[in-house]
Amino acid sequence: MAIPRIVIVGGGAGGLALATRLGHTLGKKKRAEIVLLDRNATHVWKPLLHELATGVLNSSMDEVDYRGHSSAHYYRYQRGSLNGLDREQKVIHLAPIEDEDGVEVLPARQLTYDYLVLSLGSISNDFGTKGVAEHCHFIDSPQQAKAFQRDMINTFLRYTDPNLRQNTQLTIGIVGGGAPGVELSA
Ligand SMILES: Cc1cc2nc3c(=O)[nH]c(=O)nc-3n(C[C@H](O)[C@H](O)[C@H](O)COP(=O)(O)OP(=O)(O)OC[C@H]3O[C@@H](n4cnc5c(N)ncnc54)[C@H](O)[C@@H]3O)c2cc1C
Repeated sequence: MAIPRIVIVGGGAGGLALATRLGHTLGKKKRAEIVLLDRNATHVWKPLLHELATGVLNSSMDEVDYRGHSSAHYYRYQRGSLNGLDREQKVIHLAPIEDEDGVEVLPARQLTYDYLVLSLGSISNDFGTKGVAEHCHFIDSPQQAKAFQRDMINTFLRYTDPNLRQNTQLTIGIVGGGAPGVELSA
């Protein structure tokens, strides 16, 4: 008899811990197939994103490679981005995977499940404030944190121009005084 497949979408703080726990309790004994799906190849613990954004953290030292982690903890990892769900058929739809140049590596595909856990996390809300989405940085993902860091370093480099430095003071505005905003300010 086929064993049930438990699919966990999102390998963040919640999903990665769940996949690891289920891998050890069910996967190892072959009582269930545990599949963890994430759109990234590696996990960076989200509370560290402000450190990645400011360049204090070297992500390659602190990230968990899903492929290596899965083989050590009795679950399967699949790279993919969820873009649809058919609850009747118990199927999730995954977007095509493209490389850095936008060339398709893997076409759109489907994955069946017996049990599905969605642990996709959350993203910052701009509350529809005009201009925010176009002009602000967000640090909800490692890619966004690195984009902020690149932008900040390039701005500092521009300010090494003595003419620019003399007349202007560089100002960084941080909106949101929760834990990430306060830590980023510090
Ligand atoms: C800068 C910062 C600092 C924080 N500091 C703290 C702290 O000090 N203490 C604390 O307790 N909490 C902190 N938090 C909050 C904490 O990080 C979150 O509560 C926690 O990460 C939520 O876990 P999660 O598993 O729900 O989602 P996440 O950890 O966000 O993981 C979601 C995962 O889903 C994946 N994903 C998303 N969409 C898709 C999709 N469509 N297809 C495939 N995969 C997808 C993402 O790649 C990601 O791996 C902080 C958050 C931030 C941003």
